[in-house]
Amino acid sequence: KPLVFSGVQPTGNLHLGNYLGAIKRFVEMQATHDCIYCVVDEHAITVWQDPFELRRQIREVTAAFLAAGIDPKMHIVFNQSQVPEHAELAWVFNCVARMGWLNRMTQFKEKAGKDRENVSVGLFAYPSLMAADILVYRATHVPVGEDQKQHLELARDIATKFNNDFSASIVAQGHNAEEGYFPLPEPLTQGPAPRVMSLRDGTKKMSKSDPSDYSRINLTDDRDAIAQKIRKARTDPEPLPSDVEGLKERPDADNLVTIYAALAGTTKEAVLGDHGGSQFSAFKPALADLAVSVLSPINDRMKALMAEPDHIDAVLADGSERAGAIAGKVMDDVRDIVGFIQSR
Ligand code: ATP
Ligand code: MG
Repeated sequence: KPLVFSGVQPTGNLHLGNYLGAIKRFVEMQATHDCIYCVVDEHAITVWQDPFELRRQIREVTAAFLAAGIDPKMHIVFNQSQVPEHAELAWVFNCVARMGWLNRMTQFKEKAGKDRENVSVGLFAYPSLMAADILVYRATHVPVGEDQKQHLELARDIATKFNNDFSASIVAQGHNAEEGYFPLPEPLTQGPAPRVMSLRDGTKKMSKSDPSDYSRINLTDDRDAIAQKIRKARTDPEPLPSDVEGLKERPDADNLVTIYAALAGTTKEAVLGDHGGSQFSAFKPALADLAVSVLSPINDRMKALMAEPDHIDAVLADGSERAGAIAGKVMDDVRDIVGFIQSR
């Protein structure tokens, strides 16, 4: 079976975009792939996190994985910092990746803003660590939201350069010259909602780090909060169009229809077939009911899991041990390939 790797940062405020763009698809891939799902706590600290909050947030992302239906026995669920090989391979990749490549990353530009001199070195090197997360398992399939496509391209560039830079040594270690050591990982962004937009601005992605809580539906929001946020979502004054063509140049309307379709497991065409011509005053309550019906069972299971932190920690410890067994072997190969000396 092909190997899948993906991760979510424990930076608080897990939202509908994380669910539709990532976690829901993690659940679906379990049937056809071997899956490794990671709470990427080392990525989270590229921006300062309160240690007392961070621990809770790591457990909350884990709870969301389990509540959504990820099976930690059939697959692997763990947190990044318990498997030191991620950071170790990231260092090697920092020495493979070029400054110019990382300079082009739009996520860095957006997150650093104008004050580039004062963001962490880690925020800049983030994509090297992400490449290591995937390649330390030699994973080939990476379900992510559309915003992560550029980082996946970079992971492929790093894998390609590593394979070239060390080709003689890779062959000397008994690996195939054509294939190289690392596979080129593929982004899987073709879900129904690869880019859920902010409820306040249909041209910006829904994000954990958006200062306005009204911009997103959190997985921990209750029925009233969900209904209120959808009621206040920005829209234009026109009724819904009768076909998808009519959503062009209407990003806020397009976003709500996309969310509806993804939650209902149907297409935008079908949603407009039922709701075309409706005013938002009628469509929004229907969307709110649908969102509550999908999210509240997940929310209930998350709450129950969060009441048992020891159980969550045990799941992470078990997953980390199994992940570490794979990563340890790959890192041994990498040390040999690069030319380090290690005890056997
Ligand atoms: P942050 O603002 O801290 O970066 P985030 O909301 O971008 O948080 P991440 O933990 O960085 O969340 O991303 C986890 C996964 O969710 C990734 O696969 C990412 O592509 C996906 N994702 C994030 N936001 C969206 C969105 N608005 N629509 C679809 N997928 C998304
Ligand atoms: Mg992000």
